[in-house]
Amino acid sequence: MKIGVLALQGAVAEHVRMLEEVGATAVPVKKVEELDDLDGLIIPGGESTTISKLMHKYGFMEAVQEFGKANKPIFGTCAGAILLAKRIQGQDDCHLGLMDIKVERNAFGRQKESFEVLMPVAGVAADYPAVFIRAPYIMEVGENGQVLAKHEDKIVVARNGHYLAAAFHPELTEDTRLHKYFLDMVKEYRS
Ligand code: GLN
Repeated sequence: MKIGVLALQGAVAEHVRMLEEVGATAVPVKKVEELDDLDGLIIPGGESTTISKLMHKYGFMEAVQEFGKANKPIFGTCAGAILLAKRIQGQDDCHLGLMDIKVERNAFGRQKESFEVLMPVAGVAADYPAVFIRAPYIMEVGENGQVLAKHEDKIVVARNGHYLAAAFHPELTEDTRLHKYFLDMVKEYRS
């Protein structure tokens, strides 16, 4: 399986390393043409408005929308989840608008800008180490969506068909189980 990591800004190298560890071929994606032969894509954390601007500038907005509409799995982590969402609290517009979730940015308050907790993630792990950095949370998951994890009653991992969103950074620990889960999604949709 060949999985790309959108490499415009953010935690790219860490995702590449995790994907390789679970046995995928991982490619940092800097040009739209590089999307062509991918089976799946990760949109990393960083700063969603910055990544969005760069996506528009380099032609990624439409290309990634087509990628998603062609039923190819996309995993958005932190800022990546904001980019995937159809609705963003307090904003009229969205970015890719592919995944039927509503998100709120910077949702865990200032005192808790960054923290790590062990949490159960359904179908993934009973004790997944989740690193939150100025993280969003998922306010709503649309029809047919599944809530995979919550922290303090707030949804932090959700799946809807071939889209997966996590509010935290799964690439910043040594735990590869969420990347393995995504790799299995990619295999499922390829076959
Ligand atoms: N707060 C950032 C945003 O709104 C996301 C933070 C992150 O990806 N670590 O884009």
